[in-house]
Parts: sequence; C-alpha cells; structure tokens
Amino acid sequence: MRFSKLFSKTTRNISKEVESKNHEFLVRAGYVDQLMSGVYTYLPLGLKVLSKIENIIREEMSEIGGEELLLPALHPAGNWKKTGRWETVDDLYRFKSYYTKTDLALVGTHEEAIVPVAKKFILSYKDLPKYVFQIQTKFRDEKRAKSGILRGREFRMKDLYSFHADEKDLDRYYEIAIKAYKKVFERLGIGDITYLTFASGGTFSKFSHEFQTKSPVGEDTIYLCEKCKVAINREIIEEQSVCPECESDKLKEMKAIETGNIFKLGTKFSEPFNLKYLDKSGKENLAVMGCFGIGSSRAMGTIVEVLSDVKGIVWPKEVAPYDAHLVNLGKDKEAEKLYNDLQKEGIQVLWDDREESAGTKLAYADLLGIPIRVVISDKSLKAGGYEFKLRNQEKTEILDENKLIKKIKEYYV
Ligand SMILES: [Zn+2]
Repeated sequence: MRFSKLFSKTTRNISKEVESKNHEFLVRAGYVDQLMSGVYTYLPLGLKVLSKIENIIREEMSEIGGEELLLPALHPAGNWKKTGRWETVDDLYRFKSYYTKTDLALVGTHEEAIVPVAKKFILSYKDLPKYVFQIQTKFRDEKRAKSGILRGREFRMKDLYSFHADEKDLDRYYEIAIKAYKKVFERLGIGDITYLTFASGGTFSKFSHEFQTKSPVGEDTIYLCEKCKVAINREIIEEQSVCPECESDKLKEMKAIETGNIFKLGTKFSEPFNLKYLDKSGKENLAVMGCFGIGSSRAMGTIVEVLSDVKGIVWPKEVAPYDAHLVNLGKDKEAEKLYNDLQKEGIQVLWDDREESAGTKLAYADLLGIPIRVVISDKSLKAGGYEFKLRNQEKTEILDENKLIKKIKEYYV
C-alpha cells in the first residue's frame, strides 16, 4: 500500500478531549476516528488490526470446538423480560419502534438470543455438548464513555456459549477454554502481563474468572499472588484476604484492564426459556451453560496502552497492519522497485511515498508502529543496501535485498 493512497492521514493535531494513550495514538496515526464519545470508526488501517485480532480469537475458539454464528444485536423486549434483565441491566439501550410501538433493545450480551435458538436444536443428550461463538458489534449505554476504545458505547466482542448435560461437563470445558484464552493473549503479545483472576460469580456461582491485563490506566484493581501467579479481584479480597488457589497471603496490588471474562452460567438462562433435553432414561433435564467473552476492540486498545512507547504504537507481529514500513528518502525509483520486489515475495508493505522530510517520515513510522522499518536512502545504498530496524529496538543494520527478504520472512515465521 502506498501511503499517499491511504484513505486516512496521520496528524499531529488532536482534540483536547483526548485523555488516554490509545485514543491519542490511534487517532493520530489514522487507525480510528471518533464519531461521538464511545463510538468509533475503524479506518482501513485500524480495521486491518482489529480483523487480525478477531482472526486469532476465531482460530483459537474453532480449535476448542466452537462453531461460529452471528446473532442479532436488535432484540425484542419480551426475551429480556423473560430473564428479568429488562428491568435490571442498567446499560441496556432500550427504545420503542416508531411504527409498531413495541419495546426493543440494542444489546451487549446475547443469552436472550442464543438460548431460544439453542432450544430448537438441543433436544436430547445426544445433542450435547455444543459450543457456538460470534464476533459482533455490541452496545452498552455508558454513563460516561472514556479511555478511547477501551470502554465504548459501541464495541466489538467475541462471545462463546457452551451447552452441557451437567455441571461436570461444563467444568471440563471451562478448563479447556481457560487454556485457549491464554493462547489468545500470548498471540496478541500481552500473554506475560495478562492474568487469570478470581472474580465474584454473582448470583449463579461462587467465582467467575476474568482475564486482567496489567496497566496503569486499568479501571480494576487486582491482587497478584506471588506464589501461584493467579490474581484476585478486589471484591474477593474484601471477603477473604488470602489467595483462593493456594491460601498464600503474599498478594501484590496492581491496576489492570479486564480483557476477558468467563462464567459458569449453570441453568440461569436455560430455566426461563425452558431449554431442556431428554437424558438416556428419557427424563427431562435443564441444559447447563457457560459463557466466555473477549472484547476484541478493547484488546486492540489494551495492546496500544501497554506496548507503546513515547514515540507511538508498537504492534506485536501477529496483529500489525503491515509486515514492513518502507521509507524512502529520495531514491523514488529504487524504492518503487524494492516495494514491488517485497510484495512479489508475499510481504505486506506500507510504503511512505510522500514528499516529506526524513524527520517527518521516520516520526510517523514510529507512530504507526509496524514491527519492521526499512529505509532506503543515498546513505544506505552507499553502505550496500537497505537499513533494517525493528520498531522495538534501536539497532539498525544494512542488508542487501536477498538478506532483507530473508530477514523479514524469518521475523514473521
Ligand atoms: Zn496463590
């Protein structure tokens, strides 16, 4: 992609309302644009990153048996009245149809849609277990949306719903899902600072679990057990002062962003919809459910918050919008040839072909955060080739074309 052809432009200026790093960098680099507080456009560059994040999640959910579907985001009020959540969920967007005068909701969670449809297909023990997931746009009526794409009124999320014959089978799958989540966060480049934490299970189980990514901008406070490396939410610590896993009292307090949550729903939602199956003896039983969420747009904001430096974003390789950022200082013809050669090798290149100063082009390369920067200039050509630099390292080296291609490919293996 030629920089000059991009729909979006990088900008130095930004509105005064910006209060978080992810908002500032993502807007300045042209990844997202704010339509209103908590509502963002994912520009072509930003959509590339979001899609890569969602594909990682998609792959790992498929790996644990998840089948992808797409549920509606517009729900009739009746289903929410059935579960009692029409009255209790504060952040549900509720409104009336202009024509039919019926109550409707724009939703942020989908039990009220998935359970009625599961009821049509889950009839006997032979139909269990089942796992379905979706990656979809969700809505939450936030009092005050803030922190860029970390907390939106409209956001992207993956939710997986599992259906089981009994608690034991849910427990089995729950452990499998935890492993899959760990893989997702590793591939997103935040595995080493994302902790499985004990959280309150609400009314339906003693504990639920969250995945919390350590960050000073996080809204949550967690306590990391230095002995067994699990973390505990503040609400749990208020009830008990030791680690629920190993009972150690050596707990370290830190701020964190909730990047995932998993729940054992039990029969909380199968009951109101009467989702029952026939067991081997012909007896009717309520199906047992689990629910597993990851916010994909929040994950994107989190990556920017925790991996950026003062100059800009540092994308992990699996989610970067392009493989290499080519910068030419003069030498247009040579740059065009290299750009074409790299693409012929299957390397995705963003080429800054604009007439800008070296300082500006290099500053924008740092702001955009593509993992590999290649500079072609008089100086590099005299030294024998092209300057190769990783975004997260200071070291540069001059490589000829073959070595450069080999080096880029090795990086992305
Ligand atoms: Zn512990």
